[in-house]
Amino acid sequence: SKRARLDRFISQQVGINRRDVRTLLARGRIVVDGEPARAINQVINQFTCVTLDGQVLQDKTPIYLMMNKPAGVISATRDPQHRTVVELLGENSAAELHIAGRLDLNSTGLLLLTNDGRWSRWLSSPEQRITKRYRVVVANPLTTEYIDAFAQGMYFSFEGITTRPAALRILSDFEAEVELTEGRYHQIKRMFGRFRNRVLKLHRVAIGDVELDRTLAPGQSRGLCARELALLN
Ligand code: URA
Repeated sequence: SKRARLDRFISQQVGINRRDVRTLLARGRIVVDGEPARAINQVINQFTCVTLDGQVLQDKTPIYLMMNKPAGVISATRDPQHRTVVELLGENSAAELHIAGRLDLNSTGLLLLTNDGRWSRWLSSPEQRITKRYRVVVANPLTTEYIDAFAQGMYFSFEGITTRPAALRILSDFEAEVELTEGRYHQIKRMFGRFRNRVLKLHRVAIGDVELDRTLAPGQSRGLCARELALLN
């Protein structure tokens, strides 16, 4: 998706046939990423800059952001009721952003946002099995039984699936670290729910090997650096 042959792209954008595109190309009137285009069948993607006679047909800068999501803000781009994470972004909010792995309304922590639809779909596809790490605070004391139950997986009758092995580490009576390689609806809350235990706080600290920047206050965000992006590719 979002990959196209140059001639097809220009023919669609400008409304001319592909033979005419060939002529434009031969005359050096099509420029791709700063260079006159040389092949009509070259493959471009959503971030390739394409101009015709100096007019920009496509020019989109890739955006990859991490946010420290605050509680009470919804992981969506639009919502009639609640403030959305995209509204917190300010200047970047105009771009068409995707959220790679949502968090519940009252969950906090690491959220990834991007205008790269391919990357977002790849990252959140179930086969990818990227580890998500959470800090969880619960209402009742934890026991070692939780560790086995999380590791074995739990049957969710609504979806008809058994959760993949999840790692639970007890940090204190009421606090644990949980690692999931999937993201079922309210998964962590439902897993603790099996023990009639309630999740009071849920904070995501890492996705894959990328950790939440601890200097980000709730609601703040910053661009991923090249090293972080490489860890998620
Ligand atoms: N599990 C939940 O229950 N909620 C989240 O936001 C993430 C994982």
